[in-house]
Amino acid sequence: AKETGKNGLCFYTPDINDRLVQYQEITNLLRDALNNDGLELVFQPQISLSERKSDSCEALLRCFNGQSRAVSPAIFIPVAEKSGLINRIGDWVIEAACKQLNAWKKTPLENLRVDINLSGRQLTNPHLANHILETLKRYELEPHQLGVELTENEVFGSDENQTRQLEKLKEAGLHISIDDFGTGYSSLVYLRKLPVCGIKIDRSFLQHAMQNNADMAIMEAMITVGHSLGLSVLVEGVETDEQAQLVTDLGCDLAQGFLYAKPMPAQKMEEFLASF
Ligand code: C2E
Ligand code: CA
Ligand code: CA
Ligand code: CA
Repeated sequence: AKETGKNGLCFYTPDINDRLVQYQEITNLLRDALNNDGLELVFQPQISLSERKSDSCEALLRCFNGQSRAVSPAIFIPVAEKSGLINRIGDWVIEAACKQLNAWKKTPLENLRVDINLSGRQLTNPHLANHILETLKRYELEPHQLGVELTENEVFGSDENQTRQLEKLKEAGLHISIDDFGTGYSSLVYLRKLPVCGIKIDRSFLQHAMQNNADMAIMEAMITVGHSLGLSVLVEGVETDEQAQLVTDLGCDLAQGFLYAKPMPAQKMEEFLASF
């Protein structure tokens, strides 16, 4: 059973009886989307807090069903990971991001870096780094124009071969960030050893920091550690002016959230950045 939300998003009920059906439905939907042009990237700017500018954005995947309603990636990505479709979907994302970067060449957006989300499963592909670098070349792009985001568990849970893929990308010049920072089992020792450029602090910390001293302290500590390791620090989910002020006061480098912009299609990015 699914309900259609106000903004056309489908919310799937967690009812156990429906789960198998949903799994099948979503898998079919994803296959169909892959074969029939039903996937799209939307982009959300990452905002520099000291200069009020944006040099990078995050690419987020959208999947449309027949009635052109979007299913949330929070629902379909886990299904894609389970079914193995994530490799095809991940390749589609790499291709689409590079295609977009190429289309932005010689426009005001030509220096905008695009960060894609990688799934841990993609890292198990020993050709991933080469595949990304070849795709960049094919679209006549420099490696620093692309970034990748991975969660702590995906990175810290990885073996040597997987870390090697990340190292290769970092050496080539891609920007690497740890996503949802603070929610996984991060070890600060590993953080120092890993090929990482920045951390993105999960929005749950910001949500609670306003009311909760412990969360505020944790956020401060994460920012301090990030900076002392030479990493850029972004806070996710900034929705209010009050939150923007807080993360600025705490010394964060970057912010991302609905206060600045919701994820938007590529054509909208040009307008947004021109008037920002
Ligand atoms: P994420 O990587 O942590 O992405 C941030 C999510 O927070 C996005 O949800 C974004 O729309 C949302 N968001 C941004 N600003 C705000 C805010 O101020 N408030 C609130 N409440 N939310 C905000 P989205 O697009 O639904 O994506 C959900 C998750 O799906 C992502 O979380 C990511 O884990 C996964 N995902 C999305 N695209 C891809 C992809 O291409 N590949 C992979 N592997 N995963 C993806
Ligand atoms: Ca992300
Ligand atoms: Ca995140
Ligand atoms: Ca995530």
